[in-house]
Amino acid sequence: MPNDFFQPLSDTQTPPGYNYFNGSSWVVGSSGKTNAITSPVDNSVVGSVPVVSTAEIDSILKKLKAAQPAWEATPLNQRVKLMHLVADWVKHHEEYLTALMVREIGKSVGEAKSEIIRTAELTDYFADEVQSIHGETVDSDNFPGYDKGRIAIIDRAAHGVVLCIAPFNYPVNLAASKIVPALLMGNTVLFKPPTQGALCGLHLARIFEKAGLPPDVFACVTGGGSQVGDYLVSHPLVDSVAFTGSSDTGVAIAGRAPMKPLLFECGGNNAAIVFPDADMALTAKEIVKGGFSYAGQRCTAIKYVLATQNIIDTLLPVVLEQMKTLVKVGDPRSPETKLVGPVISTEVAKTYQGWIDESVSRGAKVVCGGTHENAYMQPTILSGVAPDMPVVARELFGPVISFITITGMGEASAIINATRFGLQACVFTRDEGTGLQFAKSLNVGSVQVNGSPQRGPDHFPFLGVKQSGIGVQGVHYSLEAMSRLKSVVLNKPQ
Ligand code: NAP
Repeated sequence: MPNDFFQPLSDTQTPPGYNYFNGSSWVVGSSGKTNAITSPVDNSVVGSVPVVSTAEIDSILKKLKAAQPAWEATPLNQRVKLMHLVADWVKHHEEYLTALMVREIGKSVGEAKSEIIRTAELTDYFADEVQSIHGETVDSDNFPGYDKGRIAIIDRAAHGVVLCIAPFNYPVNLAASKIVPALLMGNTVLFKPPTQGALCGLHLARIFEKAGLPPDVFACVTGGGSQVGDYLVSHPLVDSVAFTGSSDTGVAIAGRAPMKPLLFECGGNNAAIVFPDADMALTAKEIVKGGFSYAGQRCTAIKYVLATQNIIDTLLPVVLEQMKTLVKVGDPRSPETKLVGPVISTEVAKTYQGWIDESVSRGAKVVCGGTHENAYMQPTILSGVAPDMPVVARELFGPVISFITITGMGEASAIINATRFGLQACVFTRDEGTGLQFAKSLNVGSVQVNGSPQRGPDHFPFLGVKQSGIGVQGVHYSLEAMSRLKSVVLNKPQ
């Protein structure tokens, strides 16, 4: 294990006490307060992280603000080279980061490894793609009443200091997907990792530091969202906020950062709509993988299935059959576990159990699962669910799929469009024309035809509408979102 590389991050206690990165050094923090991180795998304490003080935040932000113009003026080819180095270091430490992620957030070895590799590939892709971003000129004489007397030179400028906030479920990938485009476009960055996932975040921060970023271009502070979040997002020296997390947090943050450019990816509650002509084997497989991978803790996970009763009668037995081979709940470190490890904490599992129990008391039926032990929830299928039951009306970030019986396809779009969420949906039909047509009726960011919802490939546009997000991501779109247009108008002497 390359401990020397990550050595400045922590003391030598067991479990270790971590430092945070203030832009130039790794420090303990002056508040004296720390947050312990408990593994959902076995309830062991993995380490503790400082709760950064407001004075420390002020000092870091002042330095990030002061360093920003010089960073933006640094030749792009140098920024690109640094980001390729970041990608190389991420790849180099893949095994170490994978083991850490499995323990800290309970992701399976395969899924954690693929998150790390994907992060390196994404970083390389960003560094290549940024070179295709360029300005343009616009002549004045197109508009009635104007001659060629003016020309607008339109370029891209950095926002300034970007606050990047990542969620627990992809603590490396959804950190890099913000930090890398922000830095490439000339912003300086303050990164706040999730508390559960902070160790992954701090290790990633070390990689940015070691790649050779100049001092005070990038810093990483820790502390709970409820402890330091409000102070960070409303800070006058933060020029823009890039956030991934729940819709409730997103709505709260948006209210505290008025007039700042926001790039948000928030909660999803994604439906699968099954037409009578669908390939049932394919549909069942996509529903099982889409609903249960990483224990359903993906913003793009399938949460409910909409179909008429005769289709559900045909589909459900195929889903249950597929689950026998595709799903096995257990320790995420074990190769025997398939798709379903623990949810992020026992507390969260208890909350979701309450939602299941309430839905059952209101008429939903447990087809399989429906129980939990500590943070391990049994993969659960419910039928006879109504859209206003808590398992569907809220975002249940766990391995639960609800079947809702509809009378016709118009009802399916009405149910989806009435929710507060609008991330993705998927439609299963052998007729692609039907899929395309139906997709138009859905008020969501993306619709998948004959595939479960997903974010990738990462250069596709990715967005949520309603309370599922603000702005568009995907490599080129993210680079644009991390900058703004700047126009200089030359008035030519006549
Ligand atoms: P969360 O509880 O909303 O937290 C997300 C991040 O926000 C964490 O870093 C958290 O810090 C921080 N935070 C909490 N309160 C804050 C505040 N008042 N001000 C500033 N920051 C604050 O979400 P989560 O449980 O980590 O992640 C799961 C959620 O993320 C789900 O809803 C999921 O759908 C969503 N998600 C969406 C996408 C997408 O692409 N649309 C992708 C992944 C996840 P602490 O951890 O320290 O509290």
